[in-house]
Amino acid sequence: MKLIRIFLIILLVVISGLGIIISYDPPGVPILAYHKVESDNDLYSVSPTEFSRQMEFLVKSGYQSVSLAQLVDSFEGKYNLPAKPIVITFDDGYLDNYRNALPILQKYGMRATVFIITGQVGQTEYLNWDDIVRMQQQGTEIGSHTVHHTELGKAGLAAQVEEIQQSKNMLEQRLKVPVHFLAYPYGSFTGNSEYLLRGAGYRGACTGLPGLNDQAGNYYHLRRINIPRPRFGLWEFRLRLLRAKIYYVFTR
Ligand SMILES: [Zn+2]
Repeated sequence: MKLIRIFLIILLVVISGLGIIISYDPPGVPILAYHKVESDNDLYSVSPTEFSRQMEFLVKSGYQSVSLAQLVDSFEGKYNLPAKPIVITFDDGYLDNYRNALPILQKYGMRATVFIITGQVGQTEYLNWDDIVRMQQQGTEIGSHTVHHTELGKAGLAAQVEEIQQSKNMLEQRLKVPVHFLAYPYGSFTGNSEYLLRGAGYRGACTGLPGLNDQAGNYYHLRRINIPRPRFGLWEFRLRLLRAKIYYVFTR
């Protein structure tokens, strides 16, 4: 009897602890990392139906999407974020980001950031320049994902500079606006990457590191929540958000 009582007390403490974490909104901002919104078996493809459910969940939970520029502006005291901000990013620049994701984002009043591999533009499965310009005109923030999807952590200094600068130049030439953010391919960067990005005129960069983001963090090491193809529906999505929150609370 005594053991059961102890077990129940522990269970109660765990449940109420989880309840507090779920309902607690820490100041950190989540950045979601998607790749494809497509109905195939790719590990990084979220089906349009699942993506739609995820966006609906975010809106119902009170989240409002912001761009990375707005996020960093807020860190610098130049922009007031909404009460529950979230950044939605896509890596690689797949065609389905325009065909499948954008209409869903628009339906829910959300906006996204798409990181383009400039050397892949117009290839099979990838966005072409017209699509990218159209997405930008409809409120999508465009960033760089290097020229060749290069693992910057393993690249020499000269190669890093080239990947970082050339992709930015190419995007800016096509889009006629400054490009200030990059996502590291494979989440890979070196101690020099931040210095090189600053030098090239970037304001920040997204990694694959887990957690949430606040003013105290390094803007060139922005943390993201990876969203691959869900095996357990919306629950998995909610758990991924929760896990980032827990990670943030306990590592600050
Ligand atoms: Zn990538």
